Amino acid sequence: MRRRLVNFAVYLFAIADQTTSGMFTNAWQKSKKLLGFKAGLPYLELHLTDHCNLNCRGCAHFCPIAEKWFANPVTYARDMLQLRKLFSTIQVIRLMGGDPLLHPKLEFFLPFTRSCFPKADIRLVTNGILLFEMPSSFWDACRTNSITIDVTVYPPLRSQESFFVELANSKRVKIQLLRPEKFFAVYNKNGNSEIGTSFRNCVMKTPNLREGKLYHCPFNAYSHNFNRQYGTRIPIPMPVNIYAPKLSGWDVIELLSKAPSTCRYCTLGWDIIPTFPWSKSKRIMTEWEATINKSSKDWLANPLTHKKTRVNSVKKATSNPRTEGKA
Ligand code: SF4
Ligand code: SF4
Repeated sequence: MRRRLVNFAVYLFAIADQTTSGMFTNAWQKSKKLLGFKAGLPYLELHLTDHCNLNCRGCAHFCPIAEKWFANPVTYARDMLQLRKLFSTIQVIRLMGGDPLLHPKLEFFLPFTRSCFPKADIRLVTNGILLFEMPSSFWDACRTNSITIDVTVYPPLRSQESFFVELANSKRVKIQLLRPEKFFAVYNKNGNSEIGTSFRNCVMKTPNLREGKLYHCPFNAYSHNFNRQYGTRIPIPMPVNIYAPKLSGWDVIELLSKAPSTCRYCTLGWDIIPTFPWSKSKRIMTEWEATINKSSKDWLANPLTHKKTRVNSVKKATSNPRTEGKA
């Protein structure tokens, strides 16, 4: 009975909070700050590798055009310890890539992340290709550190779904399958997305950690690969240096709440985000582009104000920012 009452109170709080645009949560956060508590970070993702063994067209982390890169365990350990100093907790940590199973020292990262954040929901995000080849020590590390494996099952691996589940169950490791149907065309080559509105509406505002720096989102963290490959000039503003003197977790949250200029070249805050079905990347620039055709020309000229007429699009609300366009 008591539990039900608590659940009901939490439910009422969530409704009230939502209808007041997070007023209660904001007030709670402000009180915590005033009382001298450390900030908590709701979500963090990071790459253990940049390259991938699937190479999907339009990958939102630009993995098909990334150079081979492996996270350095020493740098990673230092960064995690610094984040632990800044934040009381991180609720969800997603270790991803590229495909993280390609990392030869993967087993270092799992227990280390857990030791820094004992209460976090830690997820290892993979396309699953290498899952059947992983040694038992990998499964032991996942199980003993309570790490869930998130398999993003793209069309070429759909027939393997039940085997992924059977394998994980047999190892007593939690598994979650994600089945994205569409990829977002993330690149607005016109660079005319309105920054403030895009940032406010963004479906992928997911802080990304990389070598001591925190970025607002994967587009911000990895579009240097796009610029290098295609000679584009997507602006990449200064990320947050987690080692900056006197920086607190509250400062980090504040800095990440300011829209980066990168948003101008991104579609992920548009009312309707153009999408396309999964296919293999041919590493050509147009794979990432929100393309212009007759029906969408006006809309693309002013993407945030034009009426919703685009075909081959999905409403943002029906898309899952954590899974769409990314393993
Ligand atoms: S660049 Fe802006 S709109 Fe695009 S994902 Fe990042 S925060 Fe969102
Ligand atoms: S979407 Fe996932 S599986 Fe596909 S290339 Fe990107 S990281 Fe690899």
